Amino acid sequence: MIVKENFEIKNLTTYKIGGNVKTAYFPETQSEFSELLREHPDAIVLGSCSNILFSSNGYDGEVILTTELKQFELRGTHVFAAAGVKGPLLSQKTAEAGLSGFEFMIGFPGSIGGDVCMNAGAHGQNISDNLVRACLFDKEAGEVVYKIKDEMGFSYRNSLLKAGRYVLLHAEFELKKGTPEEIKALIERNLEFRKTVQPSLAHPNAGSVFKNPENDSAGRLLDKAGVKSFDLPRAKVWENHANFIVNKGDATSEDILTLMVMMYNAVKKQYTIELKPEIIFLGDKTEKEEELWNILSH
Ligand SMILES: Cc1cc2nc3c(=O)[nH]c(=O)nc-3n(C[C@H](O)[C@H](O)[C@H](O)COP(=O)(O)OP(=O)(O)OC[C@H]3O[C@@H](n4cnc5c(N)ncnc54)[C@H](O)[C@@H]3O)c2cc1C
Repeated sequence: MIVKENFEIKNLTTYKIGGNVKTAYFPETQSEFSELLREHPDAIVLGSCSNILFSSNGYDGEVILTTELKQFELRGTHVFAAAGVKGPLLSQKTAEAGLSGFEFMIGFPGSIGGDVCMNAGAHGQNISDNLVRACLFDKEAGEVVYKIKDEMGFSYRNSLLKAGRYVLLHAEFELKKGTPEEIKALIERNLEFRKTVQPSLAHPNAGSVFKNPENDSAGRLLDKAGVKSFDLPRAKVWENHANFIVNKGDATSEDILTLMVMMYNAVKKQYTIELKPEIIFLGDKTEKEEELWNILSH
């Protein structure tokens, strides 16, 4: 297993932001992963780092990255995937096999572990729709457990995993049979749509910054509140969609949090709605970052 001390996490994150982590582990097998979790239950588990903001101040602790856990198998209409399998790859492989249900995963770089944790979704589909059973590591009990979909506490961008006790080792899904041509056509439509509504990763970002409030769209509210003009020296709101922040090159986590608070305040002032971050902020926060994050996570 690869173990890196004093590891700069920045380049693994889609924001291209983050300081040094004391120790980073990259397990390659399920048993290495479970053993690590048993020995280091406080380690932060990360997948593709596409929904997180990691502090530029770093982290004096341990991180387990699932990027080497890439095993997956298609058996009939069932899909078995390890935590680190990338959503877009699974979207393509299941399409080729004539299986429908993962077309939405084509356009964002999440791993299966991160996708299940966040209950990722797009284009009217969510990862929870097709989950049959999840194999989890229970950090409190120090053992492997299985949970079916109804026990996973899924809601909008939320699951049982978010509370931190359970870590996804691998998952089983059941998809629907379809024709590869139709599935691929839907994937193409999803990709085409995304070109207009989300920045490519050439403009480092971590997807939607804020969650949609009930029966409304965070992007719509932010747009109406005029945030598209918010432009700091190292980070800015994306000009084509108000719920994305782009790192202009050498932004720090404090730059992103500063913009987030400006966006949050703009919507609060105009609509008295307090948006909630979709992005998860991790690492050793500076005093200033703590202050900014407290405003956002009221
Ligand atoms: C350009 C772009 C577009 C995006 N579009 C969408 C979209 O349309 N819809 C959407 O839902 N999201 C979108 N996202 C956000 C992001 O890709 C998803 O939230 C994705 O599910 C995160 O997966 P990840 O592997 O990157 O998780 P990470 O960012 O690595 O982690 C996110 C959370 O999951 C936890 N986690 C990771 N692995 C595990 C595991 N094995 N067990 C338990 N917890 C785990 C982490 O601890 C953390 O709390 C987008 C992001 C980008 C950059």
